[in-house]
Amino acid sequence: MISNQNNATKRASSFEKETHYSCLSCSEIIHNPLCHECIAKEYFEWIKRIPKNEFDKSFNLRRSLKLFLEKHSMLEKNSLRCVSCNEPRTNLCPYCFTEILHKMTKEAGAGVKILSEFLFMFNFDFDHKGYFHELECYGGY
Ligand SMILES: [Zn+2]
Ligand SMILES: [Zn+2]
Repeated sequence: MISNQNNATKRASSFEKETHYSCLSCSEIIHNPLCHECIAKEYFEWIKRIPKNEFDKSFNLRRSLKLFLEKHSMLEKNSLRCVSCNEPRTNLCPYCFTEILHKMTKEAGAGVKILSEFLFMFNFDFDHKGYFHELECYGGY
C-alpha cells in the first residue's frame, strides 16, 4: 500500500547508530526538518473538516495513517530535531512524507477538489519536481 515503507525499514537498519541527516526515503539532506508527527497532526485537523462523503467509505484514512505512524516510530531514534516540536525524530523530509499523505488521500477516494486543497495546504514540493505538477493538472491555484 505505502511503497516507501519497506525501503525505509531496510535502509534504517543499516545505519541505526548514526544520526540521520538525510531522508530515509529520498536520501536527500533534510533542510527543513519538520517531523512527520507534526505534519500528521495538521493533516488530521484538515481531514476532520472534510465531509465524510468526500472519501471512499471502505478506506479508513485516519486508521491507515495511524498505522503508518506507529510502524514508523520504530525508526525515529537519532534523527534530526524537528523545528516545531523539537523531538529528534525527523527522518523523512517533509516532501516525502506529504507525498505519502497525498497518495493516501488519493487512495481514500478523494476527488480533484479535495486533492487540490491538500496540495495547497501541504505543499512541500518546492522544486516542483513531484506532485506539484498534479496541481497544475487540477487547474492550479
Ligand atoms: Zn525525502
Ligand atoms: Zn515535530
